[in-house]
Amino acid sequence: MTRYLVTSALPYANGPIHFGHVVGAYLPADVYVRTLRMQGEEVLYVCGTDEHGVAITIGAEKDGVPYPEYVARWRDVIKHTFDRVSIAFDVWSGTSVCPQHAALSQDFFARIDRNGYLLQRETEQLYCTTDAKFLADRYVTGTCPSCGFEAARGDECPRCAKWLNPLDFADPRCKVCGSRPERRRTTHWYLDLPKVRDEFLGTWIASHAWKPNVGTFVENQMKEIEPRPITRDMSWGVPLPASTSGDISGKVLYVWFDAPIGYASFTQEWAAREGRPGDWQRWWKDTDTRLVHFIGKDNIPFHCVVFPAMLFATQDGYVLPWHVPANEFYNLQGRKFSTSQGWTIPLDEFFARYDAQAARFYLLTSAPETKDSEWNWKDFQSCNNAQLADAIGNLVTRVLKFVDKHYAGHIPVCAREHEAELDRVLFHECGAFGDPAEHVRAFKFRRAAEQLIENARVANVFVDRLAPWTLQKTDPARAASVLSTCAEWIGYLARWMAPFMPEKSQAIWEMLGATGAVTSRGWPARPAPGSWRIGLAGSKLGAVAGLFPKLDDKQVAAEIAALEGRAEAAQNSPSGG
Ligand SMILES: [Zn+2]
Ligand SMILES: [Zn+2]
Repeated sequence: MTRYLVTSALPYANGPIHFGHVVGAYLPADVYVRTLRMQGEEVLYVCGTDEHGVAITIGAEKDGVPYPEYVARWRDVIKHTFDRVSIAFDVWSGTSVCPQHAALSQDFFARIDRNGYLLQRETEQLYCTTDAKFLADRYVTGTCPSCGFEAARGDECPRCAKWLNPLDFADPRCKVCGSRPERRRTTHWYLDLPKVRDEFLGTWIASHAWKPNVGTFVENQMKEIEPRPITRDMSWGVPLPASTSGDISGKVLYVWFDAPIGYASFTQEWAAREGRPGDWQRWWKDTDTRLVHFIGKDNIPFHCVVFPAMLFATQDGYVLPWHVPANEFYNLQGRKFSTSQGWTIPLDEFFARYDAQAARFYLLTSAPETKDSEWNWKDFQSCNNAQLADAIGNLVTRVLKFVDKHYAGHIPVCAREHEAELDRVLFHECGAFGDPAEHVRAFKFRRAAEQLIENARVANVFVDRLAPWTLQKTDPARAASVLSTCAEWIGYLARWMAPFMPEKSQAIWEMLGATGAVTSRGWPARPAPGSWRIGLAGSKLGAVAGLFPKLDDKQVAAEIAALEGRAEAAQNSPSGG
């Protein structure tokens, strides 16, 4: 039976995440996983933080904390944000703490080496004799050979944005101690990507069905592919396997190499925790597995080219990605998200004032699926007010409050003699409805969110046409049938909503007096006249409360003013810019 192994890009444990990250690689994955699971599919959702590399060692040294402490802090901060927006992984780990990670990464290296897909090359690198270590590019500063800026970084000049090689500095300095490093020879291992391309990857990529924004990009990459270094001279990372021939002292795997292996090592961690350590192989090496990588577009080369090349080169039976739904970039109010420039939404403040479930829904309706898109406060307001509050919230509360008042809190029965006629009106005269899951399975999350609202509008039209509030005075039996029918449709809505807004859907489910988790009922089959009611009649309603408070213009104006204020403050602060 087909199973779905779903991953989201491992966030780098070097800072907080923002809504752009959330909507790019995590929220669509979460909705996908929840939907498939309600449809009875076997799904595993794997994520955790990427915790090695120079950006992390520099960040930790700047803060004066040990590396493990530094990454643990960000791992927790990031997880906290995911928890706030109800993103639920089956396993959440980190590449420096997952007990299986180093061994599996070394196994990848050893297999790829043994199979002849690694090259060794001797290169020159700067070495600090004071600190007794090779200096990775960002540990070197010097004068930019291109523009003359005196404090250029070894990988990039902050003034002219040129990519730099630290060996090109006339006056290199060690960033840690300030002394002048010397050139030394060092050996590194390279993944022979051209060989993998010629033997396999080229054909596989050409024959794979990619999202249009991914396909073109990847095919261009194939032409320019070069061997890529997979080791570095530094201490923070996964050491090379002891069995490697050559001088491996002081070397670790390059962070880009060990990071994607985290998907598999975290799966091992999950399987061990479940008490079935061997089970990870079923997920990674059985052809019934569909491996789906949710990522932002900056990660396309790794997930469509480099990681498949690694998986293939192990010759160890790993499945290759089945689909890579990469998103474009997500901005904030016309500009890129930037914490240092103050152009951001402080999430703790956000969640104190707004509903995280409404944010989930707005993010999905504005997701950068086919082109760049953005968080816009006015659009958030109108999504919240017109779609969530009016189409869903108002429908649910006015129907259920009326039932509460006039039927002693019990959902009335739809009389046999009304059923066929009410079904005809609902299914044929109140507008089109559809199955949001069909769009989710096609990775069209914006369309899926729209479908949910269209389905809610069907019930709004039905209620407006049949006006049970007035009917109750003239024909109470018919009013009862109408309200019963509405309640049943709300029961469908709650289940259709569950992947999008899990907490709100559960709240509606409980208001309907239904027991257990809304998801336990499974994904609803497409409703059809005569056979669609699930038998809510007779249920005792739970407490009926408002679902989506409306946002007023003043709030929105204040948010935009606060955003601009933060940007201005950042510009005027000495460390800003
Ligand atoms: Zn420069
Ligand atoms: Zn030094």
